[in-house]
Amino acid sequence: MGERDYARDARVLIVGAGIGGLTAAIALRRRGARVDIVERAPTFAPLGAGITVQPNASAVLEALGVSLPEGDVCPIGHVAMIGADGRALVEGTIESAALPHPSLNIRRPDLQRALIEACGAPEVQRGRELVSLELDARAAKVTARFRDGADGRWDLVIGADGIHSAVRAALLGAPACAPRYAGQTCWRFVVEAPEHVPSTTIERWSPGRRAGVVPLSRGGVYVFLVESAPRGTPGPGSADIDRLRARFTGLDARLDPLLERLAEQPGARVHHGDLIDLPRLSFGRGRVVLIGDAAHAMTPNMGQGAAMAIEDAGALALLWGQVPLDQLALELDRRRRARVRELHRRSWRIGQVAHTRGPARRWLRDRLIRSLPQRALERGMHATWAPGVALARELRDRLEGSPRARSSANYR
Ligand SMILES: Cc1cc2nc3c(=O)[nH]c(=O)nc-3n(C[C@H](O)[C@H](O)[C@H](O)COP(=O)(O)OP(=O)(O)OC[C@H]3O[C@@H](n4cnc5c(N)ncnc54)[C@H](O)[C@@H]3O)c2cc1C
Repeated sequence: MGERDYARDARVLIVGAGIGGLTAAIALRRRGARVDIVERAPTFAPLGAGITVQPNASAVLEALGVSLPEGDVCPIGHVAMIGADGRALVEGTIESAALPHPSLNIRRPDLQRALIEACGAPEVQRGRELVSLELDARAAKVTARFRDGADGRWDLVIGADGIHSAVRAALLGAPACAPRYAGQTCWRFVVEAPEHVPSTTIERWSPGRRAGVVPLSRGGVYVFLVESAPRGTPGPGSADIDRLRARFTGLDARLDPLLERLAEQPGARVHHGDLIDLPRLSFGRGRVVLIGDAAHAMTPNMGQGAAMAIEDAGALALLWGQVPLDQLALELDRRRRARVRELHRRSWRIGQVAHTRGPARRWLRDRLIRSLPQRALERGMHATWAPGVALARELRDRLEGSPRARSSANYR
């Protein structure tokens, strides 16, 4: 299929400069698109704790030429999920999935900085919050209005504005935007503790609670703590460090010194939020496309939410100029829905299984998990990552103008 007329002329607005929005800006600019990007936050503040960029996501970033500085990343290496009795439920190395792309732990601000640098000019318009959209079907334009009084008309609007997306709400209405609570609440923080950086990334399961201890670069450790709780239970002051220590000390020996260090660390910040997802997936309609959490926010139990946002951006760049502009959302849906829905569903299920109630059920669960052959686990990792790696390969071919590039693959 030849390149369509709009590929270099159409004006695109991306709403949200998170991982999805920035990657989409990089990807579409690499395809020659004229992109504006707006972000509600007034300044670039180092937000968030840590994140794992799994091989499917790192493959797409590589294809786009986004380089994560060596000093910022910590290759994940060995991973173990540990049961309440302290013995491993499953463990393995990322290499065993036999894919030539790394799985990397990184501080969120470092990832954000790398994406902003790769995004280039014109820069992100900060402090600009989208409040409404009007679709003019006859003129084939979308008018976007912002809280600061500004407005403008674009040929295509991409909502990359997260789980509480204003773009999604404008397009689908409030009922389609109601998040689902997983019954679990989560705290996250990074501590600088070179002497306690673990050689293994662990997730420790215990009745009604879990803790993750994740090595970072430069002597940092990323910790996440999850607890079963009715919605809103922790309430105000939930990120209070003393209360967090009282709650979680004793859960795992590797965690205790990190909680102590958190209390000693000046300016330490704990992020707290309930685990929620959007049960209804939508990639948008007509000239409004949704990507990332705005399209399909998932619970974080597989560490694949940002990876899906990155893959969406790659898939959008592949479609750019290949299908009519007002069919991009439909085509993105056709190509992405099955893959995303599967990870969305599995992620939810893993979270529920991790917090299984009742000792007999937990005993049975642990026996079942431990009985899984290592090969089945490796096949599972491969199946999770391979479609993203295939997408990245196709994207690289397209960006390099290779004749191998094709546009018909479903990334499942
Ligand atoms: C505890 C936890 C751990 C996780 N760990 C991982 C992991 O290890 N690996 C992984 O791949 N994923 C992980 N995720 C998921 C990942 O964080 C999200 O899927 C990802 O950040 C989604 O990116 P996004 O760009 O779609 O949305 P967001 O990151 O939410 O970005 C949206 C952006 O839009 C801006 N915005 C919002 N509204 C407006 C508006 N009206 N106008 C303008 N701008 C607006 C926001 O300020 C924000 O900058 C985790 C999530 C959680 C909760």
